[in-house]
Amino acid sequence: MTTRTQETHEFQAEVKQVLDIVVHSLYTDKEIFLRELISNASDALEKLRHKQLSEKSIFDDHLALEINITSNETAKTITIQDFGIGMTRDELIENLGTIAHSGSKAFLEALKANGGNSEALIGQFGVGFYSAFMVAEKVEVFTRSWEKDASCYHWASDGSGQYTLEETEGERRGCKIIVHLKDEFKEFAQKSRIENIIQRYSNFVSFPIHLNGDHVNTLEALWLKSKSELKDEDLKAFYQFQAHAFDEPFTWMHFTTDAPLDIHTLLFVPGENTEQLGLSRYEANVSLYCRKVLIDPNPKQLLPEWLRFLKGVVDSADLPLNISRESMQDSALVAKLKTVLTRRFLKMLETMASEDKARYTEFWQKFGNFIKEGVVTDFGHREQLSKLLRFESSAQDEGTFTSLEEYTSRMLECQKDIYFLQAPNRSAAEQSPYLEAFKARNWEVLFIYEPIDNFALSHLATFNDKQLVSADKDTIDLGTHTEQNQDGLPEEATNALCSWIQETLGNKKASSVTSSQRLSETPMIALCSDSMMAGNMRKILERVQGTSPEEPPIKIEINPSHPLIKQLASLQDTHPDRGKLIIEQLYDNARIAAGLLDNPNAMVKRINTLLEQLAHE
Ligand code: ADP
Ligand code: MG
Repeated sequence: MTTRTQETHEFQAEVKQVLDIVVHSLYTDKEIFLRELISNASDALEKLRHKQLSEKSIFDDHLALEINITSNETAKTITIQDFGIGMTRDELIENLGTIAHSGSKAFLEALKANGGNSEALIGQFGVGFYSAFMVAEKVEVFTRSWEKDASCYHWASDGSGQYTLEETEGERRGCKIIVHLKDEFKEFAQKSRIENIIQRYSNFVSFPIHLNGDHVNTLEALWLKSKSELKDEDLKAFYQFQAHAFDEPFTWMHFTTDAPLDIHTLLFVPGENTEQLGLSRYEANVSLYCRKVLIDPNPKQLLPEWLRFLKGVVDSADLPLNISRESMQDSALVAKLKTVLTRRFLKMLETMASEDKARYTEFWQKFGNFIKEGVVTDFGHREQLSKLLRFESSAQDEGTFTSLEEYTSRMLECQKDIYFLQAPNRSAAEQSPYLEAFKARNWEVLFIYEPIDNFALSHLATFNDKQLVSADKDTIDLGTHTEQNQDGLPEEATNALCSWIQETLGNKKASSVTSSQRLSETPMIALCSDSMMAGNMRKILERVQGTSPEEPPIKIEINPSHPLIKQLASLQDTHPDRGKLIIEQLYDNARIAAGLLDNPNAMVKRINTLLEQLAHE
């Protein structure tokens, strides 16, 4: 046996500074040192897994990828041992004796700016190892690197400024770190205390952690298990860990295939749509793994933007391991994953919608806006998405939703298009003059309440070869009215009245005035040739854009059967001035129903004049 010499090294100057701060100033939550050492062990195991994929010759290749922790209360020690990648002599000096890159400076600055919350910083700034000195009077590291011909080393320090380094022998691959606790921190050698800390911080480390021989962490790579092995409580815990969530997932999708692509995935729909609740926009939160090795925690291109509410993990063994985040963005493979995953998810929703309507309705009410967004933005999946749309309609009670498919199945033979009506709410829709014509013909009308509904239906344009048409559109072919009112104004008188109204309003206010096929209870209605600009849509655009879009050309239609219109016809000769006031007022009433009247002042003045005349009679 050769004699080994022990060398003494000084820590790099910055390390001394950081050590000093870590040991003396970071007095809160000393227990996090264990989290840091376990994370390092886990990192080392993860790195070894990478090596196993690329290297043939690995020392101790048969050893399990696990972390073993042992404690000894009498000796006041905790030992954290892993069969990971280990360290060579140079790596020991480099990794534990210096702080590479700008880490130390940034750490010191962040610490100053951050005051109390230093726990998170420790991990973030790569000074985790030194946190052991918060509780230790001495830390020893025994290590052997993964390469076949590597040597074993023993590193030791009391954290005061120097460390010793010597070659030893007989170590297994990886690292064994012995923390000799200071007397006042001997509680950390209690098994229950350690178990508690692991469960708090390291439960989901993806390698088994054994404490004095017992398996203590519960997380496994659930996505690699078969569906029958998945338990609800594990899924819930995994979701909460992965999504940093506190709620229960609404539902989850487990999906595995090996051809043409190898994919293992576990996706969760969260319990609540926090975006809808007014919190910030979702960020991509489905992590991309390759054989349990994390490639990117938030890949932006993995799923379409409208699926940003999903949480979970996608693991594909087909991803090249050296894939960098930049090159991943346009990887053809990621594009393929995206297509497969999106189709799969849509299929799951289709199944839910057909097998459990109530549950799908619940999904729709929480996440429906993402489906609508998909219809607008994701052309490739538009058709599949359109089948998932749900709306209230004139044929169904409030709170009941219909699909476009169901709507078309109920369409009468004489009905050509699918109609929708934008209104602020259900009762406004039901009382809308635009509904009258459809009610009279027993034609169903979808009620839509949000701007995105209008965008989605306008983008969709057709469903099953039927046009989607806004109910206030001027060109709707209503066919012949079956219940033509016999005692309406005769045709000639109606034409004369239309001309008078046109003359009174002028071409700018009304591009045409005609007799209507639509109306039963309302005297006058305004129709719009551009449904994107019509009615409430215009108001919405106004709010979004901040400026009033120009008022669209309005076509006026009158109801020749309405008593007021009949009266109005006779006023042309007897009281033309009062008649004009009434025309102006009917016109404003029609604009109110169309959502076009922005300033009611002139109207209120006119009503007062009319009331005054009424009072005089
Ligand atoms: P970080 O983990 O953020 O890099 P640490 O201070 O926790 O910072 O660790 C410093 C470095 O020491 C690590 O990056 C790693 O290279 C090395 N190291 C620490 N623990 C181990 C271990 N158990 N096995 C192998 N290398 C380790
Ligand atoms: Mg670390």
